[in-house]
Amino acid sequence: MLTNDQLAKWDRDHFMHPSTHLAQHARGEAPGRVIQTGEGCWITDRDGNRLLDAFAGLYCVNIGYGRQEVAEAIAEQARELAYYHAYVGHGTEASITLSRMVMERAPDHMSKVYFGLGGSDANETNIKLVWYYNNIRGLPQKKKIISRWRGYHGSGLMSGSLTGLMLFHQKFDLPFDTVRHTTSPYYYRRADVTQTEEQFSAQCAADLEELIAREGADTIAAFIAEPMLGTGGIVPPPKGYWEAITPILEKHDILLIADEVVTGFGRLGSMFGSPHYGLKPDIMTIAKGLTSAYAPMSGSIVSKKVWAVLEQGTDENGPFGHGWTYSAHPIGAAAGIANLKLVDSLGLVKNAGETGPYLTRTMTEALGEHAHVGEVRGEGMLTAVELVQNRDTRAGFDAADKVVPRIVAAMARRGVIARAMPQGDILGYAPPLCLTREEADTIVTVTAESIAEVL
Ligand code: PLP
Repeated sequence: MLTNDQLAKWDRDHFMHPSTHLAQHARGEAPGRVIQTGEGCWITDRDGNRLLDAFAGLYCVNIGYGRQEVAEAIAEQARELAYYHAYVGHGTEASITLSRMVMERAPDHMSKVYFGLGGSDANETNIKLVWYYNNIRGLPQKKKIISRWRGYHGSGLMSGSLTGLMLFHQKFDLPFDTVRHTTSPYYYRRADVTQTEEQFSAQCAADLEELIAREGADTIAAFIAEPMLGTGGIVPPPKGYWEAITPILEKHDILLIADEVVTGFGRLGSMFGSPHYGLKPDIMTIAKGLTSAYAPMSGSIVSKKVWAVLEQGTDENGPFGHGWTYSAHPIGAAAGIANLKLVDSLGLVKNAGETGPYLTRTMTEALGEHAHVGEVRGEGMLTAVELVQNRDTRAGFDAADKVVPRIVAAMARRGVIARAMPQGDILGYAPPLCLTREEADTIVTVTAESIAEVL
């Protein structure tokens, strides 16, 4: 077995990590962590430290670590048939079965699922679907996509452009010409202090109307949004938000793409976030919870309305020219089948709807009045603690002080992993959906102790 020192050297010398300060890592200035095993909500690193993973990896290991049923399904599929493509109508029993299982769970007005590998590529697919849709309808000028500040939709060329967070844009020259960003539904930070949630939602809707008028509705194809903001700060929509937004989209013939990469398959305590908030999307993006990250797999679910136009398009133009070698990969599909069966048999959607709010509630009880906690918020198995330097002015901390990363490090020393969200002073929690109340209590205790240590 390699020594830890050897591994650390290879890591510094050869491994270019995602979303990482590359120079600090290569110089060995930023501590990394090598994970060895996992079971339930817990992971163990190579130094033998056992950590409660309160972010489920990157909010994806929904069923928890170490599920042998999924490991065996993957192994069996690899032995029987590791790969065959899905082009020109090919498939495997696993990929076809998974399509059936996804559509049994999707809202009734949805029609079919196109499988990819991750959330970013699924959103790339979605934008191509939308453009194709409007070309077939004879509306070639209707192509712009509206996204929201603080939305996260991936790191690809188009999906990165849709993302409304600065970290993912800086110095990348992303092709923004067809993307417009609108107001983030972030009541705590964006609303005027005199505004109720409903008034702020009405303002978000008015801002959207104004943007559409400015650009011309005939140039706008789709609005993409997470049902609840995730990476942008774990922010539930303010009251009345979706009720105010969706009629505007309908009025202007703008498709709704619900990015359910985080919310899909139970995280909000409902199978999907769209029905949870009364949305009827035209396209839904799924990834993470589809396989609980046991293998890479994503999907674009299209509605019956969109499907009808896609059919017309291929009748007129021939095959739909869009695919990845690994679309509908059988190993990902086998993982997805075993994963969705476990989501059902373990009652994880229900647990997310019960233990998640318990976590947010107990966190609020423990920290809601803390001098440096501006807000504790959450929905289902998603919780955030927003820290402030001053509760009255809501002023944040100086970025150079690295307050949230220091709290996250203090938590890790106490055996709990939370996430410093990429923008703002926000601690994020998105544990596996199998979290117990005792584990939730540990997360709260460790958070409170670590905040006390740093602040
Ligand atoms: N969409 C949302 C809402 C996400 O949260 C993410 C990832 O966190 C993505 C898309 C991108 O998914 P991936 O990282 O699998 O490309």
